[in-house]
Amino acid sequence: MASSSVNLEDVPLMDLMMELLRRMKCSTKPDKRLILIGPPGSGKGTQSPVIKDEYCLCHLATGDMLRAAVAAKTPLGIKAKQAMDKGELVSDDLVVGIIDEALKKPSCQKGFILDGFPRTVVQAEKLDELLKSRGVKVDKVLNFAIDDSILEERITGRWMHPASGRTYHTKYAPPKVPGVDDVTGEPLIQRKDDTAAVLKSRLEAFHKQTEPVIDYYSKKSIVANLPADKPPKEVTAEIQKVLSS
Ligand code: ADP
Ligand code: AMP
Repeated sequence: MASSSVNLEDVPLMDLMMELLRRMKCSTKPDKRLILIGPPGSGKGTQSPVIKDEYCLCHLATGDMLRAAVAAKTPLGIKAKQAMDKGELVSDDLVVGIIDEALKKPSCQKGFILDGFPRTVVQAEKLDELLKSRGVKVDKVLNFAIDDSILEERITGRWMHPASGRTYHTKYAPPKVPGVDDVTGEPLIQRKDDTAAVLKSRLEAFHKQTEPVIDYYSKKSIVANLPADKPPKEVTAEIQKVLSS
């Protein structure tokens, strides 16, 4: 069945063929259900597209979804905005609801990458319940291990393309033209919470509320620790090693 919002007759033949080829290749890949945990700026968003393409997974980043809701001024966005501006976590129920809905997407059929979720033990427990009711479970948790001292430079130099979530860095991953997205030519923005001051609260939330989530999954023996302070290509190589073992 064609999806309700796209008329397949209007899709260019080349795009249809490419999508068909992609799906044929995907059918040979194993299913994977992954969680990426790490402090802000540890590289989760940078690595996600590589894993997503390699294993044909959907990439669900709760931060990106919440920012889209804030920009669209939806009731959910209005509820989330204040906490996000201050670098605090939004309520567990709110993000669990978003993830529950998003996991129903056809693009999540072969598995998912959860980026920035779960961020509390309550979220992890609720995710377990959600997955149990669907008869699946998390395969691997990638822990982006990195010292806090490296993160301020990463966060304050980050630029992003809001529509796609693509990120750049003035020093480590500059766009071809400063301030412009390489793919679409659209303007890049700096996130309102990507300041040294808000980073302090975000790191506090990480250490207090999210680090216990790593212990939660360690008890299930599914955590892989990554050296997230290495250059991006080396981190990618480590991830590939972990996922192919
Ligand atoms: P997260 O999604 O974990 O918050 P990002 O992937 O957005 O982090 O990375 C934060 C910033 O650091 C971005 O500007 C990105 O280009 C840059 N970056 C990501 N990984 C690395 C790395 N391994 N070395 C140096 N800079 C990196
Ligand atoms: P991120 O893009 O992952 O840095 O998230 C940006 C902000 O969105 C965070 O500082 C929180 O306010 C909010 N947020 C994102 N994911 C979650 C989550 N799983 N639980 C609670 N708040 C979240």
